[in-house]
Amino acid sequence: MPDPLSINIQHLRASETVAISNEAKRRKAAGEDVLDLGVGEPDFDTPAPAAQAGIQAIQRGMTRYPPNVGIADLRRGIAHQLSTMSGGRSIDPDQIVVSSGSKQSIFNACFALFGPKDRVLIPAPAWVSYPQIVHLTRAEPVLVPGDPEWGLKVSVKDLDRMSHKQTRGLILCSPCNPTGSVYTHAELKAIAEWARKNEIWILSDEIYRRINFGPGPAPSLLDLPDELLERSVIIYGASKAYAMTGWRIGAAFAPPHVTKAMAALQSHTTTGANHPAQWAAATAFTDDRVDLEVTRMVAAFRRRRDYLVERFRTEVPGIEFVEPHGAFYFFFRVDGIRESDPVTGQSFCEQLMKQEGVALVPGGAFADDRWVRLSYAVSDADLERGLDRTLRMIRRLASARAAQVGA
Ligand code: PMP
Ligand code: GLU
Repeated sequence: MPDPLSINIQHLRASETVAISNEAKRRKAAGEDVLDLGVGEPDFDTPAPAAQAGIQAIQRGMTRYPPNVGIADLRRGIAHQLSTMSGGRSIDPDQIVVSSGSKQSIFNACFALFGPKDRVLIPAPAWVSYPQIVHLTRAEPVLVPGDPEWGLKVSVKDLDRMSHKQTRGLILCSPCNPTGSVYTHAELKAIAEWARKNEIWILSDEIYRRINFGPGPAPSLLDLPDELLERSVIIYGASKAYAMTGWRIGAAFAPPHVTKAMAALQSHTTTGANHPAQWAAATAFTDDRVDLEVTRMVAAFRRRRDYLVERFRTEVPGIEFVEPHGAFYFFFRVDGIRESDPVTGQSFCEQLMKQEGVALVPGGAFADDRWVRLSYAVSDADLERGLDRTLRMIRRLASARAAQVGA
């Protein structure tokens, strides 16, 4: 019997999204015809000017330790980008800490703000890593079920019902992974006012902000007045909209004392993000050619969203789904396909992989296994083939039900 591990990781489970992606890659490498519509990773290459800036940084010898909080060009670039998206609001680059992916930014912020006995509200379905990260701080994650009539978003009423005097934080994600829902300006404002009144920190994960299908970027906490931002941390990053997942660059914008704590924390963990990657990201956030690329990628995601929604509507009209307004995920419900013996997200995904060679993510990874997540950050050809197979599977399960009912 091996020695027991630390209590720090008593709740720890490996990320299901990462595990499914690894399994799809393994099967592909073994020669299987597998389509990975599981992982949330753009199929596009990093825009050339950003990649080039990374290469040049290596050639210029930017290969030593970076400043722990991030190079000045990148912090300024992020501040400029956040400011431009929020109507020129002033953003101080000194309040930004650059990390190794926004996953680390979220970890830093949670670790700096939450601890034993704290409760942290997480609207559900929720991205797989939020509850895990909150557990690592020894605080308690409290899932707040979203309203199915409202794109699975939560209202102040829902938050208030689950709140408690030990509630210290709320993690919001808009545009949302896994649903694609986007909170409106009025909804965000109402939540921020409620949080302020109750002295609750908001961690606003805005990594998908630019992948918004309405006009301009999605509404942000940064569009709200200063007094509503006193207890908030904004998470941003290069991975999604800039197709830079492997460069591992994320950022947090926070009040100065939180910035300081996050910087100190990271001075003992990573000593800052990969140095050449920071130069690549600095170009990504400021170069007009990259900006144009981002606009093109967002247009492609929107076109794929339309295609997907249209096919679900016409080919399997009884299947409930959340209409996505941003990000690149499509969340559909599987438990109603066969009422007598309800299908779970887990069993749907297992059968789909076995019978059709398509990887999707069971809703259980996001705390609701009545649903399944499909990522359309894949090529048009893979989306079409993956969808043909997924819809065939749904029809097969539904006809098995019809046969049962008829018998
Ligand atoms: N937040 C959300 C909602 C995500 O979907 C992801 C996906 N990886 C992340 C944060 C972390 O992204 P990264 O660490 O690549 O910046
Ligand atoms: N965030 C992406 C996803 O949800 C990438 C994997 C991960 O980091 O969890 O698929």
